[in-house]
Amino acid sequence: MSLDSASLDSALHDARSIQDWIVNLRRQIHRHPELMYEEVETSRLVQQTLSELDIPFQADIAKTGVLAQIGDGSGPCVALRADMDALPIHEEADVAFRSEIDGKMHACGHDCHTAMLLGAARLLKQRESELSGTVKFLFQPAEEGGAGGMRMRDEGALNNPDVQRIFGLHVWPLTNTGGIASRTGVFLAASGGLEITVRGKGGHAAMPHLSIDPVTTSAKIITELQTIISRELDPLESGVISITSVHGGEAYNIIPMEMKLRGTIRALSLHQLEAFQERVREIAVLIATANRCEAVVNFPGHNYPPTVNDEHCWQLAQEISGELLGEGSVNESPPIMGGEDFAYYTETVPGCFVGLGVRNEEIGAEFNVHHPRFKVDEDALPIGAALHVAFAVRSLDELQ
Ligand SMILES: [Zn+2]
Ligand SMILES: [Zn+2]
Repeated sequence: MSLDSASLDSALHDARSIQDWIVNLRRQIHRHPELMYEEVETSRLVQQTLSELDIPFQADIAKTGVLAQIGDGSGPCVALRADMDALPIHEEADVAFRSEIDGKMHACGHDCHTAMLLGAARLLKQRESELSGTVKFLFQPAEEGGAGGMRMRDEGALNNPDVQRIFGLHVWPLTNTGGIASRTGVFLAASGGLEITVRGKGGHAAMPHLSIDPVTTSAKIITELQTIISRELDPLESGVISITSVHGGEAYNIIPMEMKLRGTIRALSLHQLEAFQERVREIAVLIATANRCEAVVNFPGHNYPPTVNDEHCWQLAQEISGELLGEGSVNESPPIMGGEDFAYYTETVPGCFVGLGVRNEEIGAEFNVHHPRFKVDEDALPIGAALHVAFAVRSLDELQ
C-alpha cells in the first residue's frame, strides 16, 4: 500500500483508538518488572497477546525473546524492535500501577516499548493484506547490560527473511510528548562496565604501618582515572569514565583486605572505548603497585558498540514525524553518552533509533530514565505505535 498524508493521519487516529488497550498492557508489565533474561511473565504476555491477534511468532529466542512476523516472508522486510527488561531500582513514582516487586522497576520505559510494539503489531495486522512486504517484530530481553540484542541477532532474528531496515523507539524524557529526537550517525555511545579489585593487607586501623591499605590506594586510583578524560582525550572528543560503586571494609577500626570499585566507560567509538579500557588497566595496576597493593581489572559484560543511525532512515523518520505530529515535532539531538544494544542491529543492517518524547511536567513526567521517580506521559504511547506503523509501511514501499 502507499501511505499518503491522509492515511498517516489515520495511523495516528487508529493508534489513539486503541490507547486504552496499549496503556493496559503497559501497566500490566509495569506492575511486574523482570530483570535481564528473567522476562518470563513479560514474554508470556507478549506471546499471549500475539496469539489473540493471530500473529505467528517464535518464542524462546535469546532465552526469553519473542520474534513475530506479519506477511508471508515475500517482498522486502523491515524490523521493529522493543526491549522488555526492567532495572534493579526501587520505584518511588506516584502512580497507581507502581511496581509490585520491591527493588525492581521499569525505570527505562521498556514496558512502554513492549506495549507500543504490540500496538503497532495489532494495527499492522489489520493492514496485512495491503502491506508490500514483511514486518518482523523483535521483543528482546536484556538490553540493560546483557546484550540481548546481540543474542537476538546472532540467533537469526535478522535473517530468513533478511531484514533490510530496522527501527527502534525509546521513551525520551528530554522531549515533550508530541515530539521525537534523534540524529544521523552516532546517536548513542559505545559503553562497557568496569570492575577493579584492589587488594592490600588488612589489619588494625591504629597500626597502619603493619597493613597495606587498599582504601587510600583506591582513592588515588579513582582520582587518577579522571585524568584520562581531562588530560589525555582531545577536548573536542567525548568520553566518560565514572566510578559508581565503592565497597570495602565493615568496621571503623579495621583496615580491610580489599576494595571493590565498579563503574562505566563511554566513548563514541568501540576503538576509543577499548583505548580507555587499556589506560584504566595501566593506571589502576601501576598505582596499586606503587602503593604495595595489587589491582585486578575486569571489564565485565559486553562492550556495546555505538548506536549509529543511517542517514536515510533518520530522514524518513523526520518526514513521518512531520506529517504525523506536525512541523516542529523533530528535535535534532546531539550524541548522547547513554549506551543501547540496538547498536548490534545497526551494526548489521541500516536503521534508526528514535527518541519518543514522553515529557509532561504538568503530570510530573519530568525525571530521566533510571531515576526512581521516572514517569511517562502515556498519551505518547499511541504516538509511538503509530510511528512504528508508519516506519514499517513507508519503508516497505520504498524498498519494493
Ligand atoms: Zn536503560
Ligand atoms: Zn532503555
